Amino acid sequence: MTQHVSSAVPALTLKAGREKSLLRRHPWVFSGAVAHLRGDVASGGNVAVCASDGRFLAWAALSPASQIRARVWSFDVQEVPDEALLRSRVAAAVARRAGMAADCDALRVVHAEADGLPGLIADRYADTLVVQITSSGAERWRDVLVAALREATGCANVFERSDADVRALEGLPVRIGVLAGAVPHGQLVINERGLRYRVDVATGQKTGFFLDQRDNRTAVGALCRDRDVLNCFCYTGGFTLSALAGGARSVMSVDSSAGALELAQQNVVLNGLDGVRTEWADADVFRYLRDLRAEGKTFDFIVLDPPKFAPTSKDAERAARGYKDINLNAMRLLRPGGMLATFSCSSGISADLFQKIVAGAAADAGLSFGIEQRFFAAPDHPVLMEFPEGEYLKGLLLARR
Ligand code: SAH
Repeated sequence: MTQHVSSAVPALTLKAGREKSLLRRHPWVFSGAVAHLRGDVASGGNVAVCASDGRFLAWAALSPASQIRARVWSFDVQEVPDEALLRSRVAAAVARRAGMAADCDALRVVHAEADGLPGLIADRYADTLVVQITSSGAERWRDVLVAALREATGCANVFERSDADVRALEGLPVRIGVLAGAVPHGQLVINERGLRYRVDVATGQKTGFFLDQRDNRTAVGALCRDRDVLNCFCYTGGFTLSALAGGARSVMSVDSSAGALELAQQNVVLNGLDGVRTEWADADVFRYLRDLRAEGKTFDFIVLDPPKFAPTSKDAERAARGYKDINLNAMRLLRPGGMLATFSCSSGISADLFQKIVAGAAADAGLSFGIEQRFFAAPDHPVLMEFPEGEYLKGLLLARR
């Protein structure tokens, strides 16, 4: 049934023919699709998104400064965005994760669009919640969202890490600090399947830890027995610890952040895993892989988990060169029968394209690999079919033939 909203309601009317993605429940309205805005709406305020013929498509939050001009809260005309709706979304996100990662006390509890809450990320680290707000809509409802999160999770401590680069695109300032309770700087300890990690929620990458790689760390750990492992872009030692716990013979870990390496070494000691041969390199992986080759070093297992090279598809070409370079140079260090776990967390590079890039690297290396497994983000980072942009993390487990 065709729905309309009253002419008193602020409305964003689309150009003719630009309603298709909303009809497929894609939650973004790009500025180029907008014909006109009716009414006086504050940043992050509610607008009805309407097709060119005036028919209602969605309720959305207005982002006046951004190319993504509005983000959808609801496709149901009855569901006018208010405190009750946002509270119920937060409660549903927390409920959706009941029983997930039961052997861990660190979990993503809200994953933005995929939980019906664009612009909101919330990660739980033991009894501390870390919140990141990246859109004008979530910014407007910040107090409501934080209160709902405290209620739904029972977490007393809340820390805000609203310092993602995308905030600038929304015209929002950086905000970092304690929102509730107390947060011990650098001293938070989480437990992931029996491995303990110190997490620095105030200064670490993202909200402090890469929760999305949880299952992939477990999978890699199970393959490392008696192997010489090279972990590139090791951050605070995620894959290093799983390799050591999995019985690796040696692990060499590389990262260009001295602070991350320091925490990684503390994490090895914290878990009593310092009996195994570990080496650490504060280096640029692009260079270091070449240096290792020049020294004639080889490995049985290599992990490549670089930072995001392509935030959007505009950067895909440059990013593709980066991925090809590190994959090619890692492949050249693999012993026969060796394995490579290679990842991309770039939204701008699809799983398909990533596989093509890695295949190109294998071809240039003159090597054959079997695809043993495909990797994704852990299930507390859900993906909506109608929002494929949300599927940012992809990876391949390759075995050298
Ligand atoms: N695998 C990690 C997460 C990696 S995050 C985990 O499971 O926790 C990406 C890391 O790459 C960051 O620690 C960053 O410091 C590092 N990094 C970014 N560019 C780099 C470069 N050119 N060389 C080495 N490390 C780099």
